[in-house]
Amino acid sequence: MQDYKRVILKLSGEALAGDKGFGFDDDIIINICENIKAVSKLGVQIAIVVGGGNFWRGRSGKEIDRASSDTIGMLGTVMNGLRVQGTLEEMGLETRLMTAIDMKEVAEPYIRRRAVRHLEKGRIVIFSAGTGLPYFSTDTTASLRALEINADVILLGKTGTDGIYDKDPNVYHDAVRFDKLTYKEILHKELKIMDTTATSLCMDNDMPLFVFGIDDPSNLVRIFEEEDPIGTIVKESF
Ligand code: UDP
Repeated sequence: MQDYKRVILKLSGEALAGDKGFGFDDDIIINICENIKAVSKLGVQIAIVVGGGNFWRGRSGKEIDRASSDTIGMLGTVMNGLRVQGTLEEMGLETRLMTAIDMKEVAEPYIRRRAVRHLEKGRIVIFSAGTGLPYFSTDTTASLRALEINADVILLGKTGTDGIYDKDPNVYHDAVRFDKLTYKEILHKELKIMDTTATSLCMDNDMPLFVFGIDDPSNLVRIFEEEDPIGTIVKESF
């Protein structure tokens, strides 16, 4: 696992909210950022895609049209991006926050070549505002950006689990964790890891995914330091 040079870390809004379920959990965010720092110190280029579910999910706003509701969701991801950026910079790291919706007073617009340049210079890049388009998710954003910047892998930090199981491990005691899976198996078994758009984008373009548990943020460092870290690796084929 240790030979990943450039990674996309997908942080859901849920991960940033901890047990609160909404907004920010300061201790959790500091813990996650300390582990991002440790990985960065190993020389790994890190780009982060932040979710927004700790503030708003487009599909939960039935009172207004979906496109507007999704825009609220995307703006939520910018708040998360600012929060993660602030904490990483407090820790002495150099970062750049990019947005897929123009807001130049707040952050840089997303420009692929510029993002890659930042990474090459050792800056941690945070991608916010999703793809900038409604009806998509930040999982799809992670897949898209991973392909655009030529990442070696997407690291999908999950809450409530430490990998992909054959059934919900929080409900079934006999649930079995997969060490590895293909994207086809995920789609056939209807395992809800990412939405189908994100899954098929990775499958069609051969982008590996490593699903791990972010409830213990030190699992992130283990991916780079341990021969056999806990989680599930997903590829187009093995
Ligand atoms: N969103 C969107 N387009 C995108 C990415 C996100 O419209 O490209 C909106 C969508 O409403 C979504 C919300 O932003 O529900 C927050 O993102 P997501 O649900 O993926 O966050 P997470 O579940 O990872 O916290």
